[in-house]
Amino acid sequence: LLLRISQPGVKLMIVILQPNADEQSPAYQKVMDYLRTLSDVTLQQHQVRGTEKTLTEIYLLGDTHKLDQAMIESFEAVERVIRIAEEYRILGRHSDQFRVSGFHYNGVEFSQDNCHIVAGLCAVDNPKNVETMLKALQAHGQVCTRMGAYKPRTNPYSFQGHGRDCLPWVFELAGKYGIKVIAMEVTHEKHIEEINEALHATGNPTGVMLQIGTRNTQNFELLKAVGRQRVFPVLFKRGYGVSLNESLNAAEYLASEGTSNVIFCLRGMKSSASSPHRNMVDAGQVPAVKRLTRMPVCVDPSHSVGTRERSSDQILDVAHAAAQGLVAGANMVLVDFHPDPAHALVDGPQALLMAELPKFLDDMQASHEFYQRRKNIWA
Ligand code: PEP
Ligand code: MN
Repeated sequence: LLLRISQPGVKLMIVILQPNADEQSPAYQKVMDYLRTLSDVTLQQHQVRGTEKTLTEIYLLGDTHKLDQAMIESFEAVERVIRIAEEYRILGRHSDQFRVSGFHYNGVEFSQDNCHIVAGLCAVDNPKNVETMLKALQAHGQVCTRMGAYKPRTNPYSFQGHGRDCLPWVFELAGKYGIKVIAMEVTHEKHIEEINEALHATGNPTGVMLQIGTRNTQNFELLKAVGRQRVFPVLFKRGYGVSLNESLNAAEYLASEGTSNVIFCLRGMKSSASSPHRNMVDAGQVPAVKRLTRMPVCVDPSHSVGTRERSSDQILDVAHAAAQGLVAGANMVLVDFHPDPAHALVDGPQALLMAELPKFLDDMQASHEFYQRRKNIWA
């Protein structure tokens, strides 16, 4: 089914039946009988199992533009009908506010309704720092982290990450401290296999979310390769120099190849106007991504702001940027911490300190709750 709907030129309409529709009922038979009379349209049935109800979706593939949406919606057994637009065919929301979003991975749910903090080291350096980080996360009830092993660097002489060599001990330590998901950038398709092998060799003590970095947003061959694997979800960074539309189309490459468990990350835009921040903070686009697509949305305040500066309110600009994302409805915060930023091998100047972790988590919790309250105000 996925292959069919990701084919160029295929037109698609989805008929969503009433929850827990009974296939024996006359109402169900009636709509199916009608749909079967349509010429140049192939029907495919698709079950979506939620926690409380099962949804039956009938995909209409083919010459669907001439079909009368309102007429199909008038059948008793039909809840609603969605016309799938050409853009972001699989990841798109297609103006349907009720479409399900998100996914479960390794026991953790990621959706457009919940929120995770993914704090950790920009780059793995040594076991001591990794363990200090993971231990602190566990102490604060966290199950996700970020750990970079493959680092794309501006300068070829800068530290490039420990690569595959560090994977076994990073995964074992993550397992030891109850971490379920590690966001880890891959810059080449062979890294997927290296991660897979290291997880197997260590007995799958944790899970990995493959990160696509901003520099690879439009590396379409890498995106296709990551899309073809069906094991790991993906944390996809927007491109720092292309439009939001171009970045969302790039994310769709993953889905078109088979991986639709994708989180979209806003990480700031390269612009001379961003100074004194490293990039122009783009947290204001969180609602736009949630409206256009079904992807949970992440913000990365560390790579947006890029410094540990704070204003007279004593709140770090990084924390402000993260809170701005959450108050706007973001579902994840990817943030750099380090036990000893002065000696971090990558991005030390923007890392938060271990002592700041409880305050940061508190602030994020409060910001997410404030968003929930705002939703009630506007309901
Ligand atoms: C990172 O998260 O470590 C990173 C390199 O980010 P970006 O691709 O957004 O620059
Ligand atoms: Mn970094």
